[in-house]
Amino acid sequence: MSKSNGTEAHVQVAVRARPLNQRETDLKSPVIITIHGSQILVNKSQEKHHTPKTFSYDFCFDSMRLDNSNYASQEFIFNKLGIEIIKHAFEGYNACIFAYGQTGSGKSYTMMGTHNDRGIIPRLSQSMFDRIETELKQDIHNDLNIESMDNEKLNDILSLKFSSTYRVEVSYFEIYNEKVRDLLNPNNNHHALKVRENKILGPYVDGLSQLVVTSYQEIETLLIEGNNYRTVASTNMNNESSRSHAVFTLKLTQTLSTEASETQSVKVSKISLVDLAGSERVSKSGVQIEQIRFREGCNINKSLSTLGLVISALATRQSHENNPKSTKRTFVPYRDSVLTWLLKDSLGGNSFTIMLATISPSYDNYEETISTLRYADQAKKIVNHAIINEDEPGKIIRELRNEIDKLRKELADAKAEKSAEKLNAEINENEKLMQTITKDWQERIAETDKISKERHELLEKSGISVCSSGIGLEKDRLYLVNLNPDPALNELLVYYLKTKTSIGRPDASVKQDIELIGVGISPEHCVIEIRNQNQIFLIPLNKSKTYVNGQLIDNERQLRHGDRILLGCSHFFRLNSPGDKNSTSTSPARSSVMNTSSHLSFIDAQNEFLLHQLATDPMTKELRLFLKQDDNNQETNRIISRKTSDVYEREIEYLKTQLMRSESRSSTINSRTHAFEESLSKWRFSNKLLNESEESRSFFNRLKQELIRVNALVSEANTIASEMQRQTTYSAMLQIPVSYLKPGERVI
Ligand code: ADP
Ligand code: MG
Repeated sequence: MSKSNGTEAHVQVAVRARPLNQRETDLKSPVIITIHGSQILVNKSQEKHHTPKTFSYDFCFDSMRLDNSNYASQEFIFNKLGIEIIKHAFEGYNACIFAYGQTGSGKSYTMMGTHNDRGIIPRLSQSMFDRIETELKQDIHNDLNIESMDNEKLNDILSLKFSSTYRVEVSYFEIYNEKVRDLLNPNNNHHALKVRENKILGPYVDGLSQLVVTSYQEIETLLIEGNNYRTVASTNMNNESSRSHAVFTLKLTQTLSTEASETQSVKVSKISLVDLAGSERVSKSGVQIEQIRFREGCNINKSLSTLGLVISALATRQSHENNPKSTKRTFVPYRDSVLTWLLKDSLGGNSFTIMLATISPSYDNYEETISTLRYADQAKKIVNHAIINEDEPGKIIRELRNEIDKLRKELADAKAEKSAEKLNAEINENEKLMQTITKDWQERIAETDKISKERHELLEKSGISVCSSGIGLEKDRLYLVNLNPDPALNELLVYYLKTKTSIGRPDASVKQDIELIGVGISPEHCVIEIRNQNQIFLIPLNKSKTYVNGQLIDNERQLRHGDRILLGCSHFFRLNSPGDKNSTSTSPARSSVMNTSSHLSFIDAQNEFLLHQLATDPMTKELRLFLKQDDNNQETNRIISRKTSDVYEREIEYLKTQLMRSESRSSTINSRTHAFEESLSKWRFSNKLLNESEESRSFFNRLKQELIRVNALVSEANTIASEMQRQTTYSAMLQIPVSYLKPGERVI
């Protein structure tokens, strides 16, 4: 890291371009990114008047093609970024890496990685313990002859030395819609955790568990279980994980004694590893805005927008500081969001910070890529002032004690009731912090064990096999595996099947083997039975919403290996039945949290469900045709092309898909149906002969994705209405203003 004035360091910016994904490859989407050393060139050469744009950063990682000699692997990236972070942590500095980029650009892949190709978080954790072990061995080696010692004795000495010198604590939480959720201690989440700021310790999450760990294996288990819990919680709440921020923190405390002076000092460093929410701008079409407002009560990812404001304020502040004549002070709105408040130190404070921007190389994502690269450009300007956090032991405790004494005195003098109340709250808060800090180490270990046990129990109680989440998935057994739109959470949860497995809500009168929460889940939803020779049957109960391969079933149905099951509105699973000869599945479930799985498996299941839904609705004949078109089908290519991207943007803006409310279904819907069919067919047929272009392809892709999303929401809204016994039906309408059709098109 570049340092000036001892501890001043610019935020380092790294950009990583991922490979084209399957979808982009199928669409033959052109690559618009070229990387040369620390420069990135963005060039839409297919467009005549496009001017290429160049950006430069501290690191540019080219992960676009495996066969490229410059290919940046996970290991390469860790060596470039992670090793430096570890070095700083052992020196006593705070450090932070935050991953920024649109959904699907590779943030989670780079931070967490897959089981076979681990990302920065697991590599960094492992590296921290490797370094501890090396240092301990070195230390012992200076005093004793290690070679002549048996392993058991060496381990005893190592662990004794470890506990007197090092403490490693971890926490893992997510921020969704400005609420903090503890991913390591589910019992903490009955109420959202509050962020507070203490004079001495700075901002912190009140009540967040900080678990103590003594080996990398323990961290690996925490990551797996934390991610499992994140998947369960987000599916149950029907949250979109792409809109949440995941923050993993490693705290390293080193107690160092110098023999000569017999004094001790303590170095503490905190490494924050942040996988941010998808940066896609809440869209030009307004479609996403509508959906998100609807779901998140108008609080459209405040943390992400505030992060943008904070970065820009810090960049401006830096330019003022660089200008000796400037007297301006820039206000940095850290406190305006949970994320920026908690990362205050990492942004413009006491930390070595790396921003890792991830981008897609494809033409399709041009706008988002440019926006990410500009964001990253701003972050380059931020200068942090990192200091070594080294103190004599017990200094913080003394400071807290002094603060409490001071507050008590103020309280004694306080006249007004209100200020007494405030002071009392402050005293309580400080005392609580003091208790946490002064807890005995053994007590902390016991507490960690207790929380781990509870987390295990909670996961197991809801039917998830905890032991399968590591290495030990028993592939020859029958099980359901979850499907999730986020590849990082897909195929994570494994539910082994018994001879008779009941599935329903936790509040059912009879305890269910697999517990699910969410819209459309009945208390006793369905049963899966294994009958002779591994024949599996799914039996829906109480007219529950149970779908097999997209089709609603009202009677028992025999299941096959690879069948997709949808329960309620959002719980998608795939069946693994290895002995089944009539297998239809293409990709068997894999066994870890850090797993890459085919994103398509979820999209396919959702698409399949929607196509079946639409089949029964006359209004959507055209829509169905449209959705069914294969992406690289000639038909799609022949449909509409507009000459400039401007026209397309305007068009998207007007293509608002709305949730329409209608009290009496038949009359209103029929008239809408008519209008819908008419405009859509005019639109399609009249444009067939226009030029095929990348823009039209990319436009239709997006439109298709939006239609799928909106229809999923409509289905959810209808289920909620029926659960509330309301006579209300929702449907989606696609409006194409007549003014957008050319005069000739209006006639057909
Ligand atoms: P994000 O977290 O930004 O939404 P992900 O990390 O989940 O995106 O990546 C989306 C998909 O692309 C995943 O299936 C992931 O495995 C794949 N992917 C991302 N980056 C890479 C890479 N560098 N190499 C290979 N696959 C990648
Ligand atoms: Mg992700």
